[in-house]
Amino acid sequence: MKLKQQLTSLKPYQPGKPIEEVKREYGLENIVKLASNENPYGCSPNVKTTLFEKLEKSATYPDGYAQQLRTVIANHLDVTEKQLMFGNGSDELIQIICRGLLAPGKNTVMATPTFTQYKHNAIIENAEIREVPLTEDGDHNLQQMLEQIDEKTAVVWLCNPNNPTGNYINEQQLIPFLEKVPSTTLVVADEAYYEYVTEDDYPNSVALLSRFSNLFITRTFSKAYGLASFRLGYGISSEEVIRALEPVREPFNVNSFAQAAGAASIEDSAFVQSCARKNKEALSTFYSFCEETGLKYYKSQGNFILIDFQRDGDEVFQYLLERGYIVRSGKALGFPTCVRITVGTPEQNEELFSLITQFLQENV
Ligand SMILES: *Cc1c(COP(=O)(O)O)cnc(C)c1O
Repeated sequence: MKLKQQLTSLKPYQPGKPIEEVKREYGLENIVKLASNENPYGCSPNVKTTLFEKLEKSATYPDGYAQQLRTVIANHLDVTEKQLMFGNGSDELIQIICRGLLAPGKNTVMATPTFTQYKHNAIIENAEIREVPLTEDGDHNLQQMLEQIDEKTAVVWLCNPNNPTGNYINEQQLIPFLEKVPSTTLVVADEAYYEYVTEDDYPNSVALLSRFSNLFITRTFSKAYGLASFRLGYGISSEEVIRALEPVREPFNVNSFAQAAGAASIEDSAFVQSCARKNKEALSTFYSFCEETGLKYYKSQGNFILIDFQRDGDEVFQYLLERGYIVRSGKALGFPTCVRITVGTPEQNEELFSLITQFLQENV
């Protein structure tokens, strides 16, 4: 097979072990999955009622333009309908951006460690990848990222808040950065955790679109909206950028159920706000726990926390797995001595704290 050369260096995405398999393997009855930053409170109850109606129309293709969802989101964000693009998860928007903009001879600038899909898709397009290490504190090094940009830079990625550190870029940092990036370079602000952010100086990126037509914001229904199984994300940019990228998108990339679920849940802002409030409260219990036990951690604006155990992250992962908690080892995330934990319900978090305490006692 005449495979693209660069594909030989890539591995497929490694999904975690299925919950049923973990149960069988370790003889456990209950498993708590705190590995993929899903919402422990599920989704808005509005979603269920709307899905039953859609089931009757299962034989027809979805609306390829997602008109109903588009209208709802355009109103919600106060942007035009032509400023939006929908994806089968925001992962697909990342793929569409790479497919549309990257090619041999072009380059793309990103932080490291950051969300792995930017690099993965850039490799497939055979573009040059310029990775700029995060600062000691886990922030994007915007100055060095600017220095990496040249006339061949097609895309710059800002993961805000950054996965896996949870650090964020504030408005005073973002605006001067955008002012310095050439208008012909696309700046992607991946705001997958937007709804969880609580800091006041987090940028109002949608308001910046009128000034920066090369800004592309991605958001998702997978995290705070609790709809990860539906695969629904959206991009917000200038009408020119959306128009230019639209041919890359597959005609029916977002299924009818996802469209209906998204439209039904965006209106239920009370649900998302209550999840964000509980997340903030729970994060502070993580901070206190880490401080009491002397574990270093990164302050997070997402629904996850990166904790440094100063030992192989896989060991902590395995210990918790055998006791019914699936977390994410930092090894594959660029933080080999850390573990990334999704914030759960207060009960789940408390049980996890006891297990970690036990682990630390057994492994001094
Ligand atoms: C989870 C996540 C995504 C992917 O979300 P989907 O919409 O489910 O594809 C994108 N970016 C970041 C930073 C994430 O953490």
